[in-house]
Amino acid sequence: MFQPDDASLSPVLESLRQARPVLWTRPECRNTGAAPGAHFLMDQVLSAQERFARFAPLLAELFPELAATGGVIESPLLRAEGMQAAIGLAPQAGRLWIKADHALPVAGSIKARGGIHEVLEFAESLALAEGLLQPGDDYRKLAGPKARACFDRYQVAVGSTGNLGLSIGVIASALGFRSAVHMSADAKAWKKARLRARGVQVVEHAGDYEKAVAAGRAQVEADPCGYFVDDERSASLFLGYAAAALHLRVQLAQAGVRVDAEHPLFVYLPCGVGGAPGGIAFGLTQLYGPHVHCFFAEPVQSPCFLARMMAGCGQLPGAPMPPSVYDLGLTNVTEADGLAVPCASELAYAAVGGHLRGVYTVADDTLYADLARLKDSEGLRIEPSAAAGFSGPRQLCGSDAGRAWLQARGLQAHLPRATHLAWTTGGLFVPDEEYDRFLSRGRSLAAGS
Ligand SMILES: *Cc1c(COP(=O)(O)O)cnc(C)c1O
Repeated sequence: MFQPDDASLSPVLESLRQARPVLWTRPECRNTGAAPGAHFLMDQVLSAQERFARFAPLLAELFPELAATGGVIESPLLRAEGMQAAIGLAPQAGRLWIKADHALPVAGSIKARGGIHEVLEFAESLALAEGLLQPGDDYRKLAGPKARACFDRYQVAVGSTGNLGLSIGVIASALGFRSAVHMSADAKAWKKARLRARGVQVVEHAGDYEKAVAAGRAQVEADPCGYFVDDERSASLFLGYAAAALHLRVQLAQAGVRVDAEHPLFVYLPCGVGGAPGGIAFGLTQLYGPHVHCFFAEPVQSPCFLARMMAGCGQLPGAPMPPSVYDLGLTNVTEADGLAVPCASELAYAAVGGHLRGVYTVADDTLYADLARLKDSEGLRIEPSAAAGFSGPRQLCGSDAGRAWLQARGLQAHLPRATHLAWTTGGLFVPDEEYDRFLSRGRSLAAGS
């Protein structure tokens, strides 16, 4: 384990190692030891959005729940006055909104964005290469027997803590691919059962998320007709997530929410490996420049992106690169299974590390309490991972570190006109029994605090 001498232990590092909730804000620093920068362009984000549009008629045919939207997979933007009061965010500190990805159809989580995009991109390139599709064709052709016979020769595989597997398995099997999902030990039983019910092969691994990913990668390397969705390194996933920013901009405008120097937008994004929040933060930064302030949220036992950010700023001297949460003496054990990742994606870090304002950590008990508050104030049903965003306003407006940062940035004066956006990232398919347990645990914790 990495053991800095005590003199070099900053207060943030101290809290981090003791698994206490903490807010870290990014100092102006040159990123040392960064991976070669991943450079994405807004054009690529637009291409991802166009790909979703080309596939929409086919998706509407494959998934009855998408008929009403013509195959568009999107989530509502909601004003959350009740939850704002429940988390104690004063009206003078801005307005709380929710981007409700917990309700995303097909996958039931934010993974619908990146995961489905990557499988669609693979299917599209295969169909074009095999002459099944000409540019400009109606993509509903891909539901026909010729395309399905072709797709059946290929296997799509992924390693996942659960939700990415759900999204990849469901879309891959709907298109006619064979699919395999390598799951870590912490993946929930209902997620495995749901995949098996769709004909997806579920391979269980005793170790953590990284082990599941490595096993999936190795299996596909041995299969000439195998395609591996690499959560730690995939540009296609990242761009699928980033496309969410384009839709959010339309929703904010329709809701009359302004974003500019006098109307700052704070966005709180639950983070696992960093791809989903990274893609979205990248897209939003392209659209809103300095007026959007993105923060990532991680469990106190799994702050892998925070560790990576600190290392990049020279604040983890002597730590292995890239650092893992085990190097900090943490366990990576959390009920937030979507966020239980020991080591950040270097691709996400390189692409978005320089745009992030900060990262904060959340205790599992707080996730449960906020899950219950959200149900009781707004009637929304989310999973524990998805509650991590709600600690953002609390950390930013209610902690010394947060207030000092707002002051230093000249943002304090604009708070009354600020928008706080918590991204709720999953929950739609959590079984009732499981959800009821979350809720009763959360209610007793919320009552006790
Ligand atoms: C995967 C996931 C995230 C974070 O996405 P990463 O790309 O792993 O950072 C957040 N919330 C939920 C519910 C997830 O499933």
